[in-house]
Amino acid sequence: MAPTPKECDYLVIGGGSGGLASARRASGMYGAKTIAIENQRLGGTCVNVGCVPKKLTWNAAAISETIKHDAKPYGFSVNETAPFDWKTFKHKRDAYVKRLNGIYERNLGNDKVEYIHGTATFKSKNTVNVKLDDGSVQEINAKKILIAVGGRPNKIGIEGEELGFNSDGFFDLEEQPKKVAVIGAGYIAIEMAGMFHALGTETHLFIRHDTFLRTFDPMIQEKVSAEYERQGIFLHKQSSQSKVEDLGNGTKRLHYKDSNGEGTLDVDGILWAIGRVPETDKCNIEASGVKLNDKKHVVVDKYQNTSVENIYALGDVCDQGFELTPVAIAAGRRLADRLFGGKNDAHLNYENIPSVVFAHPEVGSVGLTEPEAREKYGDSLKIYTTNFTDLYYSMMEDGKKSPTAYKIICEGPNERVVGLHIMGINSSEVLQGFGVAIKMGATKADFDSCVAIHPTSSEELVTMK
Ligand code: FAD
Ligand code: NDP
Repeated sequence: MAPTPKECDYLVIGGGSGGLASARRASGMYGAKTIAIENQRLGGTCVNVGCVPKKLTWNAAAISETIKHDAKPYGFSVNETAPFDWKTFKHKRDAYVKRLNGIYERNLGNDKVEYIHGTATFKSKNTVNVKLDDGSVQEINAKKILIAVGGRPNKIGIEGEELGFNSDGFFDLEEQPKKVAVIGAGYIAIEMAGMFHALGTETHLFIRHDTFLRTFDPMIQEKVSAEYERQGIFLHKQSSQSKVEDLGNGTKRLHYKDSNGEGTLDVDGILWAIGRVPETDKCNIEASGVKLNDKKHVVVDKYQNTSVENIYALGDVCDQGFELTPVAIAAGRRLADRLFGGKNDAHLNYENIPSVVFAHPEVGSVGLTEPEAREKYGDSLKIYTTNFTDLYYSMMEDGKKSPTAYKIICEGPNERVVGLHIMGINSSEVLQGFGVAIKMGATKADFDSCVAIHPTSSEELVTMK
């Protein structure tokens, strides 16, 4: 017999970064009767196959770099070929993520959110069916519904594609590949290629143009691409792929074209990292009536309203320019503030959102790139740049030093800072504080009025001429 239909004030579809944040605030802070539905593991992309396991792997890669490249110049007698036990690390990482899944479930309970594990599909604009793990269907009628179903890795659509893996599959790898092809030029391709290389895998990166991270400032694109080549990552520029063949024994042959012509590459791992698509095709979204754009993202306004009253969407399922965990969380909390907390104008301001690529070295960016700033402000720009070698590398031989590069983009006679782009050691930690300053409307004079912290890299940001 089908379970009795449930009623609630707020039904949240998707237990990822945005959905959980919104559900917990609506229920825990404002007492709205809230139900959250998740069909996989609580925490969504970030916790299970994104930020968290990625950063742990990046940490391992950073330790590897320290042992291989940095320890000896600093006087340590180390075995630079120190073997890395991928399998043990992977299992420890899985265990940590599993612990987080449990913590997320307890947090929902603490905030009195009813959690249902199952797959939600729309029946109408205010009714959702949830297929439960035992196969039965739970109907839920909700006054308000949040669509926070996130996205999944895109497919490239060539023969033999299934012989490779995507970013989800990266976290399933039980063995470290000896030689990989990474296809893509965005955050995921650059982070994962960097991690593979640092951990000792021969890494071939296939990009469609001459540089990668092409949504970033040109300085970042050029310098990180050059640095990856200096470090020994094989960069295949102007490339495309036609098929993958299985040669047996775990070896795959990638057929490609690049700036040197046609070729094949035999590898034991192929990572497709060519962007993500919204998860709107599996929840019968048509029955809700909400409008989608041509890429199937839910269309929303700045308040996260969809085209249908009382249905909202946020996070990766929308196309608001930033597919980032803190963005989904912030939008989710503000939405709950607005819907249930009486804060009628609460919404996320999508301007000046800082973001970081955990590349090698790290990259950070907030505000406009130079081309975007030129388009917006024309000749009123003043650009400050600096390139230097961090003191950390003073102990290394020439040719083995990683570069640091900073760019500050200022606009108008007051030189308001409208863009900041940094690459170098610790950039991910440096950016957060400067993000606050830029959000507050800081000018170059404000930057300069802050006394430098010496000796650091970031002191250059308050002393640039
Ligand atoms: P998600 O977290 O994807 O959550 C959506 C949830 O909905 C999923 O759990 C899914 O199972 C569930 N769901 C989908 N359909 C249904 C349905 N019909 N019924 C029930 N449940 C459903 N961001 C950062 O800020 N920093 C990083 O370092 C970072 N690294 C990343 C690394 C990788 C490899 C990837 C892939 C992403 C990374 N991101 C990072 C991006 C970040 O993970 C996402 O922006 C964020 O998770 C989006 O949150 P969300 O709530 O919109 O969606
Ligand atoms: P991105 O959108 O960042 O990049 C995908 C890139 O892949 C495109 O920009 C394109 O670059 C390239 N591409 C597209 N199609 C092809 C193709 N057929 N062959 C080769 N290259 C192709 O997507 P990701 O999948 O890397 O990441 C998704 C999102 O997840 C990111 O945008 C980011 O918001 C988030 N994320 C955030 C992280 C962080 O905060 N540190 C880390 C990881 C992910 P081009 O046009 O140059 O070819």
